[in-house]
Amino acid sequence: MARLVIVSNRVSVPTGRRVEAGGLTVVLRDGLRRADGLWFGWSGEFAEKPGPAKVTSRGRMSYALLDLNQSDYKGFYYGFANGSLWPLFHYRLGLVDWKADSYRAYRKVNAQFAAELFALLKPGDHVWVHDYQLIPLGEELRKLGFKGAIGFYLHVPFPSGDIVEVLPAHAELGQALLAYDLIGLQTDRSHHDLLDFLERWCGAERDGDTLIHGGHRIATGVYRAAIDTAGFAKEAAASCQTTEVRNLEESLGGRTLMLGVERLDYTKGLPLRFAAYEHLLAHYEEWLHNVVMLQIAPVSRGELAQYRALRSDLERATGRIAGRFASPDWNPIRYVNQPVPRKVLAGFLRVAQVGLVTPLRDGMNLVAKEYVAAQDPADPGVLVLSRFAGAVEELGEGALLVNPLDIEHTALAMRNALAMSKDERIDRWRRCIEPLQAWTARTWYDAFVHKLDEVAKAKGELPHAA
Ligand code: ADP
Repeated sequence: MARLVIVSNRVSVPTGRRVEAGGLTVVLRDGLRRADGLWFGWSGEFAEKPGPAKVTSRGRMSYALLDLNQSDYKGFYYGFANGSLWPLFHYRLGLVDWKADSYRAYRKVNAQFAAELFALLKPGDHVWVHDYQLIPLGEELRKLGFKGAIGFYLHVPFPSGDIVEVLPAHAELGQALLAYDLIGLQTDRSHHDLLDFLERWCGAERDGDTLIHGGHRIATGVYRAAIDTAGFAKEAAASCQTTEVRNLEESLGGRTLMLGVERLDYTKGLPLRFAAYEHLLAHYEEWLHNVVMLQIAPVSRGELAQYRALRSDLERATGRIAGRFASPDWNPIRYVNQPVPRKVLAGFLRVAQVGLVTPLRDGMNLVAKEYVAAQDPADPGVLVLSRFAGAVEELGEGALLVNPLDIEHTALAMRNALAMSKDERIDRWRRCIEPLQAWTARTWYDAFVHKLDEVAKAKGELPHAA
């Protein structure tokens, strides 16, 4: 069996006692263990002149961690990846902060990743590159002479070509994508847009879901990011016995809980969600004193001005809502900036009668899936879901769908969710849980790795052009 090498910007090396990571990190790690694999990425440390990657073994798998120069990292990560690509891929053209120097740092760090990784690669390895921070990595490995199969998976949306074109470097990034053997996307919509972009803007030919460019074939497909549905359900049920979850329930005093959980990010639609909640309280008086909205949103990317501005907007909105509606014995809104341990989070999701997932744009949104998985099948809550989250392709039948820009309609959806009969809740939940039981994180991982094996075999039969 070929060795699998995973590359991502951050690598989470298990620290022993505490299980700190969740979701896809754990799935990747478990999969790599089965394949005696290697995980390569940034160590989280800076060095003036970074040396080769440091390799450590944990059981059957190894981690190779690379230090980066701080100023390069700033340009790479904050400047280009999160200052340009993140807003662009989430359809926020007005927030794109293009700087040629940042793009150069992005290319430089990718070339450095490739050079240090190449030194560790063996013929026959399969490489799986993750996410928008590392688009040029495959092309850089090819330049160094690596001939093995390289796959790329995008964890964010891929927008329409008209949007990608705004980026001065769009053609170079298109060429970089065409250096891969396999490209995986989260949704049908992103898949369609990627094929269209690479065909119409970058000169690739199409043969079904395969692209052909310079004699090289690039397979593409949809691999929906998923969760360990049964495992999360079990965790959520067990979590209800923890002190944290009991304390939360007790503190509600019988009131209904609406819950939102995400990183503090402008794609998540939080100011509009708060506005919709304010509208609910102002227009559906039966819920005054009877509902609490808990928003858990740990700070992320606080170095960027847009993220700091969002934080102050939400602090103001929280104060306004409390000032307008709170009474001595009831505060309608709780806004928490601290991260919550995964296990506790699972229990919080279970006790919330309404789960609010209303991003302006999201590649998938795993919280939406976790909310569904966490519910008590005999008395489930209701998911209010943005039509702009990738998860809508699986959960659209059972969730209450909203356009987060439409505050009045979102408020109405909140009210309908709060007032929904048990029969309808069960019916909707069943329609949500079925696709999540059929397609799990393990299925996702296996499907991508299997396809990468398949394209590697095909490369063996046909001489590779690169
Ligand atoms: P994104 O990748 O944009 O952050 P997702 O919803 O796809 O959004 O994935 C977020 C993951 O991080 C989920 O597994 C979720 O449980 C976890 N997470 C999000 N917010 C918190 C939080 N406040 N505390 C703990 N875990 C969180």
